[in-house]
Amino acid sequence: MLSFDCVVIGSGAAGMTAAVYLKRANLSVALIEKSAPGGQMNNSYNIENYPGFKKIDGVSLSLNMHSQVINTGVDYKYGNVLDIENFGNYKVIKTDLEEIKCKVVIIASGRVPRKLGLENEDMLIGRGIAFCALCDGSFYKDKVVAIVGGGNSAIEDAIYLAGICKEVIIIHRRDYFTADVTTQDKLKNFENIKIKYNSVVNTLYSNNNSLSSINIKTNDQEQQIAIDGLFLNVGYVPDTKYLINLGIKLDNNYVIVDEHMRTNVKNVYACGDVIKKEIYQITTAVGDGTIAATSAKKDIN
Ligand SMILES: Cc1cc2nc3c(=O)[nH]c(=O)nc-3n(C[C@H](O)[C@H](O)[C@H](O)COP(=O)(O)OP(=O)(O)OC[C@H]3O[C@@H](n4cnc5c(N)ncnc54)[C@H](O)[C@@H]3O)c2cc1C
Repeated sequence: MLSFDCVVIGSGAAGMTAAVYLKRANLSVALIEKSAPGGQMNNSYNIENYPGFKKIDGVSLSLNMHSQVINTGVDYKYGNVLDIENFGNYKVIKTDLEEIKCKVVIIASGRVPRKLGLENEDMLIGRGIAFCALCDGSFYKDKVVAIVGGGNSAIEDAIYLAGICKEVIIIHRRDYFTADVTTQDKLKNFENIKIKYNSVVNTLYSNNNSLSSINIKTNDQEQQIAIDGLFLNVGYVPDTKYLINLGIKLDNNYVIVDEHMRTNVKNVYACGDVIKKEIYQITTAVGDGTIAATSAKKDIN
């Protein structure tokens, strides 16, 4: 079995930062990622609040961080972490591909988009239901799509899709958007954006295993609308099922840590969007990753 001083789970901003700090502290480090490096940063068109860059797209920032991780000598591994076993002085990380032994674990697995919880929803993901306009918008060129949500990223996605699609319908459960006023103002420039306030999607219909229409309830009225794509933008939730056997303390799936990013389990730390905190940003993820790595280094010594 491969063995490292530290294993970092998740190659988003938090995990990549932690891995670089640990490696530079002369520890052996594996960084395990189940998807592309960068995590949620890959979904940002433009990042304008990360110091050092006036404006940078999320994919470029992800690739910059990733190349720093590789140049530092971190062992980058593809794999989906399914479970972690605690043997006291060491832990065993179980992925879908291998088992890895380590002294210290840093959990940096971020969070994933929330689903609506409707019948057939899982089956239709990738078959009409999508979460990332930037990644999947071009599949719906000249088609009709709907977006569920009313925050900044829902409105930004609607504006982005309006430049590609024939029609974009924003479906929002309240009678006002929570997106900031500047972002909302931009909606006025698009004639192909329609808004359904006080509305919720309650049924998904499919044809040949692809989404064909949705039913929405607006106040007491029901309406079936034919659409080609449905983009969900209703918040995020950490996927921390793989931590259950480890006995990590969670609050609504978020990992509880102290100010040193220590969890309740010895030699297990967490950082970034997976932890319970006030501000979920790249800058805070990077800060958390730094603290987690520094605490881990101290504890190993
Ligand atoms: C659309 C959008 C726009 C945003 N815009 C900005 C912005 O302009 N400025 C800003 O500061 N912040 C922005 N944010 C927030 C910011 O992107 C996040 O706060 C930050 O990237 C979180 O980083 P993270 O490393 O904690 O988690 P994530 O980015 O979620 O990374 C976690 C990584 O862990 C991996 N992973 C999860 N589970 C496992 C597992 N079991 N096994 C292996 N790997 C696993 C995931 O695949 C993922 O790559 C935005 C977010 C979104 C969604």
